[in-house]
Amino acid sequence: MKYQNQSENKQLSQKGVFQIRLHHHSAISLIGSGMIYLVFHSLSAAVAFFFSGILIDLDHFFEYWHKFGLRDFSLRKFFRAAHNHEYSSYFVLLHSYELAAILLLVGFIFIRKPWFWGFVLGFTVHIISDQIYNPCHPLTYLLLFRIKHKFNGERLFPLEKREKYARRREKKVKPGARKGKISPPQNKL
Ligand SMILES: [Zn+2]
Repeated sequence: MKYQNQSENKQLSQKGVFQIRLHHHSAISLIGSGMIYLVFHSLSAAVAFFFSGILIDLDHFFEYWHKFGLRDFSLRKFFRAAHNHEYSSYFVLLHSYELAAILLLVGFIFIRKPWFWGFVLGFTVHIISDQIYNPCHPLTYLLLFRIKHKFNGERLFPLEKREKYARRREKKVKPGARKGKISPPQNKL
């Protein structure tokens, strides 16, 4: 089903359709780093896994900068914009499988240290989690695909996918909600 007009699309955006958020990534990173420590007994690998799995999201600052500039920056606005899909372009330069592959190669050739394996693993698990839980095109997390489509938000996070995720979210919030019905936007401020 496609949205018939701009206002419906806007309603969908205002509902916030990105499923995976900072606290989800923090939980995944915490569990993953605990498992790494238990299996490999490496504190450096566990710590690197934890931080790389969270800090990769700092690359969303590029979207923010592109849309709002750096004046009047606030973390609240930053998180709200990401959550509400307020950007028309998505660069997410660190969210790239190509970069994960390059890091893996660099690890094998030059570094070969537990902390670096933890870092690469945390980085990669984050991208895979985003791939699974965000309403994206299957190739969104390939940098070459994003470049090919000029970082266009609609191409990378298609409306149909966002609509599907919003419906799923609606069902969770209101189990009796009618399929496909979009309720009025809520003021999140
Ligand atoms: Zn992410």
